[in-house]
Amino acid sequence: MASGLLGTITQAPCPRAMTALAAAAVAVAIDLIFRFRDYRKLLNSFSAAAIMRSLSTLTLVFLQVVALFYLITLLPLSLRVVVLLISAFVVIVQLSYWRTLSQFMTATDLFLAVTVSGDHRVEAILSFFKPLVLLYSLPYVLILSGLALAPPVSAFWMALPLSLLPVLYLLGSNYILFLHVPERSFHLNPLTSFLRSILHCKFESLRSYHGPRDDLPPFNASQRPLDSVIYVIDESVRGSNLSLNGYPRSTTPFLQSLETRGLLKNLGICVAAGSFSHISNAYLITGHNEFPDDTFQTDRNPTIFDYAKKMGYETIYIDVNNVYLSSLMKAAGDSPVRSLDRWMNEDSFEYLHIDLDVTKDPGVARVLSGLLNERSGRFIIVNKKGLHFHYSNNYPDDMASTLWEPVLKASESLDSSPAGRERLVNTYDNGIRFQVDEFFRVFVSETTNQNYAVLYTSDHGQTLAEHGQVYTHMKPDMEIVDVPDFIVSGERYGQKRLMDGIAPGIRVSHLNNFATLLDLMGVPASLRVRPYDKSIFSLTAEDNRERYYMSGSLHGSGDFTVEKIPTPPEPGWGVSRPVGNNTEVKL
Ligand SMILES: [Zn+2]
Repeated sequence: MASGLLGTITQAPCPRAMTALAAAAVAVAIDLIFRFRDYRKLLNSFSAAAIMRSLSTLTLVFLQVVALFYLITLLPLSLRVVVLLISAFVVIVQLSYWRTLSQFMTATDLFLAVTVSGDHRVEAILSFFKPLVLLYSLPYVLILSGLALAPPVSAFWMALPLSLLPVLYLLGSNYILFLHVPERSFHLNPLTSFLRSILHCKFESLRSYHGPRDDLPPFNASQRPLDSVIYVIDESVRGSNLSLNGYPRSTTPFLQSLETRGLLKNLGICVAAGSFSHISNAYLITGHNEFPDDTFQTDRNPTIFDYAKKMGYETIYIDVNNVYLSSLMKAAGDSPVRSLDRWMNEDSFEYLHIDLDVTKDPGVARVLSGLLNERSGRFIIVNKKGLHFHYSNNYPDDMASTLWEPVLKASESLDSSPAGRERLVNTYDNGIRFQVDEFFRVFVSETTNQNYAVLYTSDHGQTLAEHGQVYTHMKPDMEIVDVPDFIVSGERYGQKRLMDGIAPGIRVSHLNNFATLLDLMGVPASLRVRPYDKSIFSLTAEDNRERYYMSGSLHGSGDFTVEKIPTPPEPGWGVSRPVGNNTEVKL
């Protein structure tokens, strides 16, 4: 019926504009049918004034759909087909997002999609994609193919002046949305929403800080330190799934043995700064402590490497997770990353003939031990591979590593039914045992130079579909910011007395880690150029009544939210349980 209507329109005056208008109307009507519940929520949740405001936004967006469709009809037929195929792909991605996260992609999602490593991208697609989406996309694709029916412009150069007005409208109206309408508010169409996210990224990048980071005051370390300080930032490790934190399955027996021997100081469940890697790493490495970062302090603050270098440490960055190193590298351009003596990524491991696909994180632990045994006075940050979905890719597929069964295979998608959750959690726990406990077992047993301290945390946790979520992280759910935090020190660590001074009953967040590292490195107060949050050595049980975190746009433009974990936390927060009664290690 829709194509018959379009057929009539192609005979009308201004056939391209009419085709675009009709196609836009049908596209919006289809959106109304598919996302009816979202539209109804929109009507229920606002006052009359807010409804008027969103009506004008929706009109603005409707005209964007018309403008976009009109631009497509200006293209020669062959190019139109290419654009329509790309559009169909975008619609599928957008609808997958919406089915999983109840929203279209935001500028932050898009930014992450283009900046994260290929592995993460594939993992995200695997966890989001459901074949049903293809069915949902079909009507949109039919409408788009209707645009191919509009008569082409007789000469291509004639299309240029015709395209000027719609292009200007798309730029101008999206700039208005960027300035005045929060990204999380409702959007009519998957394609214009995507265009909006692209332009949002561009506008934000124009507004961002691109200068050098602030310098530290002059200071001369008298000698190279005798100890080494290591900061391990894990990936997707939920604190309450460690038996060290009371989880009923023995996921971290080695860490518990270290605690018994007085070599591990556990700080309990820590609140992550953000619900995904980019935010957490930005805060962890620069010590910024306000949410969101609307003053670009995470781009201005000296990094922890700057402090380490000043204190005389040799600085090394091991990033096998491609999360933050790449952004520091980009900022450095062709020059070396400031205050960084050496960086190692997956290629460096290949060069050392270590296959991380086989050894996984324990292979990184071995290299870390080698670095400590070689020389003292090193400050090393490790961004581990940890436990991204699919979890079964993070431990060897053998009997010895599969302690809890049944597991979720890498070919299966995330399923929140009780049986699905049981497999999900079993797989995750096998992963913790290997990527966390085995990592430390290898590291501690192979390090002969025992004058070191390791501060360990994870960038964020995982939902484990606890409340039916079909996503692993990214959203502001409380369980996503449940992460571990502890210090492992070597037998001959010179600053052991620091550990003895930790007050009982403290509540830690990621924001406490920066000053903790400064204290471990003995950075004098005169050198500290920002009012960082307290280190764990000066926290008391009275501090941190509320622990804040954020999700969404790091710099607070567009879709973001700042949340808190109160004291006491809501019941169930910081607690995780296996599904079923299967807590014993399989014999
Ligand atoms: Zn992450």
